Amino acid sequence: MQMMEDAKIKKRDMLIPVLLCLLFITNCFAFLIYMTQKNEREKVTYFYSAAQQNQLTLKSRMEDDLRILKELAKSFSTGNLQDKDYIRSVINKINKENQGLEIVYSDKTDQKVPDDVDTYYKVDVTDEEDKSVGMLYVKNSGEILRNITDTMILAGEGIFAILDRQGKVIAGSNKAFYEVSRENRERSLVLDAIKKNKKIFFNMKSRGRKRQTVVMIPLGLNDWYVLNVFPEPNLHSRYMEMAVGIGIMILLSSGLFLSFFHRQVKIINRNQEALLELAYRDSLTGSRNFLSFKREMERLLQTEEITTYAVWYCDIKKFKFINDILGYEEGDRVLKSLSRLFRDYGGSNTLFCRIAGDNFAGLYKYQSREEMEEWFYKLVDLFQNRYLPLNQKIPMELCIGVHCLEEEDWNLSVDQIVDKANIAQMDVKNRPGNQFGFYNKEIRNRVLLESELESEIDCALRNREFKIFLQPKISIQDGNRIVGGEVLVRWENPRKGTIPPGQFVPLMERDGKIILLDRYMFEMACQWLQNYLKSGGKPINLAINVSKIGMLREDFVDFYAKIKEKYQIPDGLLELEFTETVLLNDDVMFNSLVTSLKSKGFICALDDFGSGYSSLNLLKNLKIDVLKLDIMFFRKSRDITRDRIVISNVINMAKELQIKTIAEGVEYVETVDFLKASGCDMIQGYVFARPMSAEMFEKTLSRKDGDQLTPVDIGEEGVEI
Ligand code: C2E
Ligand code: CA
Ligand code: CA
Repeated sequence: MQMMEDAKIKKRDMLIPVLLCLLFITNCFAFLIYMTQKNEREKVTYFYSAAQQNQLTLKSRMEDDLRILKELAKSFSTGNLQDKDYIRSVINKINKENQGLEIVYSDKTDQKVPDDVDTYYKVDVTDEEDKSVGMLYVKNSGEILRNITDTMILAGEGIFAILDRQGKVIAGSNKAFYEVSRENRERSLVLDAIKKNKKIFFNMKSRGRKRQTVVMIPLGLNDWYVLNVFPEPNLHSRYMEMAVGIGIMILLSSGLFLSFFHRQVKIINRNQEALLELAYRDSLTGSRNFLSFKREMERLLQTEEITTYAVWYCDIKKFKFINDILGYEEGDRVLKSLSRLFRDYGGSNTLFCRIAGDNFAGLYKYQSREEMEEWFYKLVDLFQNRYLPLNQKIPMELCIGVHCLEEEDWNLSVDQIVDKANIAQMDVKNRPGNQFGFYNKEIRNRVLLESELESEIDCALRNREFKIFLQPKISIQDGNRIVGGEVLVRWENPRKGTIPPGQFVPLMERDGKIILLDRYMFEMACQWLQNYLKSGGKPINLAINVSKIGMLREDFVDFYAKIKEKYQIPDGLLELEFTETVLLNDDVMFNSLVTSLKSKGFICALDDFGSGYSSLNLLKNLKIDVLKLDIMFFRKSRDITRDRIVISNVINMAKELQIKTIAEGVEYVETVDFLKASGCDMIQGYVFARPMSAEMFEKTLSRKDGDQLTPVDIGEEGVEI
């Protein structure tokens, strides 16, 4: 699903943390490099100063020795140069005083210095005329220099050497002779520096792969150079090791962090997916839930021509019954089957969801309304014959409302659009069988009014907005006298005026509130009758409607009997009208109810006979007192001859069973005549009077001409509600 992808952490989202991590690594390394370089600089300074120290020590020692020679030569020049013994004794004395110094005097005749002697320390001895007469030299000058250089080797590990201008080692450790005389990069660097008369500093590795630092500076005497090779100080190499260690640790920890981060992102993405699955999937059917449907539909409608789409809303009829009777498991299976059906046959670009309970909604790309209707009935067929769980005994009926999208729906939210389809569904829901209906504005107004009324009912009951109206019942075999009336409810709504029961009774039947209304109406009727009787009115019969579910309540008989008693209504005046549908289930139960009602002084009537499932068989089984023939029998447009045959036979049969008959909905005098001739006892219809308020009813009863009424064809009669 698109939104699943949207919700995941993307690669680009990871870029910033990864970049930050890289920045951190770079900074750490930059710092390490800075520290290393700083350390290197300090090392250079340190080695330079060490080299300088060596150079100064060496130079001053050599200068000291030379000074002794020079001063000696000077004293000899001014003395008796022929006195060899004297010279020898002075030299011996000085040699003794300066340990390790072996000064030798050579006179003119043996000017030559022996080959095995280094004549680094050599001074001419002159006579008074400044003519060279001999020379003083230090026989062991090479050794002296070696001794000095030996003391300058750091911890015996470094190299110290004195080089001449050709790069030849004049004095130094054995190692120095070996190292410096080899032809290699280091040597060429050294020679190059000597050539250019420069100091030089560089790092190198010893044969033992140890780091060393080479510093060469001029000695400042004889054009010589002092070459220092320092071993890497321990501290420095520790420092470097530490820097490398820290670098590795930084790399490792960054690597660990990045892999941990990557793993976390993966986990988050996985969790995100799981959460989205929860948030966008219906857990029972696995289909989309409404939230997911909404999002997808919004996306789709952005890109497509919306008028090619229809939104449908589906409801399983009597689903509550399936759950209650067959159990929730079976109910779940039905829902899953239906979801599968929509998935397999939902039409091109199947997009649907389970909204809640047994309600599904979907988007359908349609060709024509007829094609959609065909699609629905194909679904119904598949659902009932292929998709339903096995052994399904209860007939499963579907009800679908459809809204074909129009341009104006552009401005609406998905909720509002789906609402339209739902309204179409609600409109057809209460009709029998599988139902399919399209949305239009009229339906909307009706359904909206219904829901508006539904929401006001509780308040109306509390505020006693329901009033009794009465329609006279006329005895036609007995001079058209009013013998009673049927109590009919009217809702005096403070905002909407008088509302007829057809608009709210079915709503109240749906949620059971009709029982409250029936009981309220019954009490009102008893109250009125009590007052009427108390005021001297002649006893009349009052018929009160009992809803289908009202009579199934356990306390039904008790309640009605108690109210009858409360208002002290004599037996034989109150008549309860039952609609025939409930009787189909159990006539034994109905008869026992009738028996106990009769024992409490009630009359029992069967209402609407002929409207639905009427069967003549019913009559012989039911112990009712009155049979009300349904209004449908008396519609003028019907095939009167055949109807009349049926009606007169029903009346006859009822008479034989001692059941009184009353014809309802009679509108024409001609029908009155026919019914009278057929032996029908009473008529309740517009032909005599419409339902009227209780005051009007009372007035009608107490008219001068008595309680007799004259039938008038509908449209001409005077009494109206
Ligand atoms: P119903 O019990 O069959 O009541 C008779 C209905 O037929 C009344 O409609 C009455 O006005 C109408 N009617 C009577 N004569 C004629 C006629 O000549 N022509 C035509 N066209 N109609 C005629 P109403 O008062 O609108 O009541 C409709 C239904 O509402 C009733 O049908 C009954 O089923 C229900 N109802 C009314 N009051 C109550 C009540 O207090 N409790 C319950 N449960 N249902 C009630
Ligand atoms: Ca009735
Ligand atoms: Ca009726």
